Amino acid sequence: MTREEIFAALGLDAAALAAADSDALAVRSPIDGAEIARLGLDTEAETDAKIAKAAAAFDIWRATPPPRRGELIRLLGNELRAAKEPLGRLVSIESGKILAEGLGEVQEMIDICDFAVGLSRQLYGLTIASERPGHRMMETWHPLGPVGVISAFNFPAAVWAWNFAIAIVCGDPVVWKPSEKTPLTALACQGLYMRAAERFQDAPDGMMQVVIGGADAGKQMVGDTRLPLISATGSCRMGATVGPAVAARFGRSLLELGGNNAMIVTGSADLELAVRAILFAAAGTAGQRCTTLRRLIVHQSIRDNLTGRLQAAYADIAIGDPLQGGILVGPLIDKRAFDAMQDALARAAAEGGVVTGGERLFAGEYPDAYYVRPAIVEMPGQTDLLLEETFAPVLYVLGYEDLKDAIRLHNASPQGLASSIFTTDMREAEYFLSAEGSDCGIANVNIGPSGAEIGGAFGGEKETGGGRESGSDAWRAYMRRATNTINYSSELPLAQGIRFEV
Ligand code: NAD
Repeated sequence: MTREEIFAALGLDAAALAAADSDALAVRSPIDGAEIARLGLDTEAETDAKIAKAAAAFDIWRATPPPRRGELIRLLGNELRAAKEPLGRLVSIESGKILAEGLGEVQEMIDICDFAVGLSRQLYGLTIASERPGHRMMETWHPLGPVGVISAFNFPAAVWAWNFAIAIVCGDPVVWKPSEKTPLTALACQGLYMRAAERFQDAPDGMMQVVIGGADAGKQMVGDTRLPLISATGSCRMGATVGPAVAARFGRSLLELGGNNAMIVTGSADLELAVRAILFAAAGTAGQRCTTLRRLIVHQSIRDNLTGRLQAAYADIAIGDPLQGGILVGPLIDKRAFDAMQDALARAAAEGGVVTGGERLFAGEYPDAYYVRPAIVEMPGQTDLLLEETFAPVLYVLGYEDLKDAIRLHNASPQGLASSIFTTDMREAEYFLSAEGSDCGIANVNIGPSGAEIGGAFGGEKETGGGRESGSDAWRAYMRRATNTINYSSELPLAQGIRFEV
């Protein structure tokens, strides 16, 4: 498919997108650094109007029965199925991930739609035993209000779908500010939603608003009380300003921030399996997943063996144009990401690290794109550098003797997103999953930390922000809970036995 065919299939007007305007946002593909579109930025007044539209839509949508809301998401899932190929390609073009992962991202969107359709009939509340005779207590879940979604470049479509599918069945319209690096994917998603809404027929206008802008547009949403929930995905730096700002207006935030994910490989591990898992988790997506494996904590008895195998496997990784078959690692998003990676490697070397790989590739062919060989860095110890998230394919390798020490190293990171252990020892696996083990929101055994399924609640602890979205009971963040007490007797007993009679 050519770029023009992809745009056409997704209803993106190529001519309008090419219209140059000196104030516009230039959208570049990390594949070759070329400009692929120019978009006007929303002004403050335009963003305000979009929030107002979503608020007006909420007044209608909240009264729509949830299973009927689910029908809209079922139709969206159908549109995503029909557009999987062009949307997956657009994700690759804008974010630089390989096509298989671009298509996988759309599959994840389809999966969350299916999940949300089922959920639309399962927004259950509890019935609670009342201490008063002739009384019943229950919980009712109501729509919360329009949700502000702020998303990162590396999952330009799926993060929206995780939020949108669930928010819509919960009764909440969405105002979405995508990353300024991936706005085309957002406009394509909006177009697919509009197709679904047309089939649905009576969805109110304004349910799916896209705001084109950078941090300033995000800040405007964060400060707007018409958005009772801000779901923000991105760096810890961003979350550190968004979280307090939303709290200051007593709003609710769902923060999905950076990770600094580790894997412990014990002496009993199946190394064949571990090498394959490490390769995908550390080098896949060019190290640009929040769940990317960044620290490998290996038992000293197998450290040299595993490192040698990894170095051999890394030498064979096919790097290049992510749309070409057989390629496993595409480019970094931009020069800033490349500079941050080189800076981290230089610091690691200065701290006694032994670096393999990490160099820039194809600079002649692609002077404006940043391809790198994923790096392995054998470290003498866990320095401060290893406690930062460098959003690039750098895998630090550390040794350990005692599992408790390994878990201490593991949990020393200020972020707490994803983790895993490779072991065939049941005691080691269960200890890692126990209260004394991994302190992350995701803890896996014999699979890598990345590549989560939508059925579970996704998110992490500490500086990762504490939010949970996607499956399980993450829907509760998008609703408000009312506790109801109903008196069906002809008496009026007070709780705690209080008597109050004249
Ligand atoms: P980023 O923080 O630079 O930007 C993310 C979004 O926040 C963008 O839309 C940006 O415009 C907006 N933003 C930035 N500052 C803001 C502010 N002060 N107020 C409101 N909005 C603001 O992140 P990025 O470079 O696009 O993405 C990479 C980061 O995202 C990594 O740290 C990665 O781990 C994280 N991430 C986390 C998850 C997760 O689910 N935990 C998923 C994907 C990415």
